Amino acid sequence: MIGFFMKAKTILVVGGAGYIGSHMVRQLIHDRWKVVILDNLSTGNRRLAQGCELVEGNLGDCHLLENLFTEHSIAAVMHFAAFSQVGASVVNPLQYYQNNLAETVTLLDTMVRHEVLYFIFSSTAAVYGEPEFTPITEVHPCQPTSPYGNTKMAVERMLADCAAAYGLKYAALRYFNAAGADDSAQIGEMHDPETHLIPIVLKVALGQIRNIQVFGTDYPTKDGTCIRDYVHVNDLAQAHLLALQALFDGASSAVYNLGSSNGYTVKEVIQKTEQVTGRKIPVVEAPRRPGDPAVLIASSEKIKRDLGWIPVYNNLEQIIQTAWNWHRKHVH
Ligand code: UDP
Repeated sequence: MIGFFMKAKTILVVGGAGYIGSHMVRQLIHDRWKVVILDNLSTGNRRLAQGCELVEGNLGDCHLLENLFTEHSIAAVMHFAAFSQVGASVVNPLQYYQNNLAETVTLLDTMVRHEVLYFIFSSTAAVYGEPEFTPITEVHPCQPTSPYGNTKMAVERMLADCAAAYGLKYAALRYFNAAGADDSAQIGEMHDPETHLIPIVLKVALGQIRNIQVFGTDYPTKDGTCIRDYVHVNDLAQAHLLALQALFDGASSAVYNLGSSNGYTVKEVIQKTEQVTGRKIPVVEAPRRPGDPAVLIASSEKIKRDLGWIPVYNNLEQIIQTAWNWHRKHVH
């Protein structure tokens, strides 16, 4: 197996001090890979970058990248370093194009010049836009409805062009709603500001926020609130490992959805959180948030079939429980 010999080399995890990147780093180290993190700590946190070298800087800094690729024998790059707030991307699209797209050009250019041709990319369900059918498969049309989704789609297209021109081998992994935390509760979600449902509900449970605003109660769903597909962050990381191994073993470049194939309404998430925490969560009904589709559920059959991905945190309770363990431990 090529992968076995690759382990003498290093995996560069760009954005490894962030929420999903830090869980990836943990699994890579557990799987005996050498890892180096590149992160500018703009949304990441030094406390999440555990167990390996952290290089602080921008992925658009070509001198820094040049040094990194010269000093380390890099086998592959995993790229988690993107801004990911839909609303902020509408307000400041150029910041998103600069960070998510332009800086990725610099990264890929450096990779190609150093003949590092394996790449795993954090993509998103936002590339699909308003769903035409559900569960969403990878052949669903891609019509992003936000600058954020556009930047991710643009990178996916760039990857396909680089594969054709330079022989890049890549996997683009389209996440649905990443949630949960590592069982150790040593790493977890810590965004500032926090915009995601589960961490906000948990902050309400902890008394850090007074109530949860439910954005829209008139959607065409069973209780009027939006349905989302929550997938555990460690299951996401496991999928990245499988995708990387497959590329090393000669698989073609591919695009995969990563979700649980189960959908839960916002109200169901709140109810389940009340059960897990044993605390009452005060709810305030609020207007719809612009750009929120009623239902987003992934079909992840393709990655299960091609790579044998088996999510192990396959119910909402487990996902919320691990997130609760993390939030409770790091309440201050
Ligand atoms: N949501 C909500 N209140 C909040 C945060 C989120 O009602 O304070 C809803 C949001 O409108 C969406 C769902 O929860 O329907 C999941 O939102 P999140 O931001 O976690 O993820 P997204 O699906 O936008 O990627």
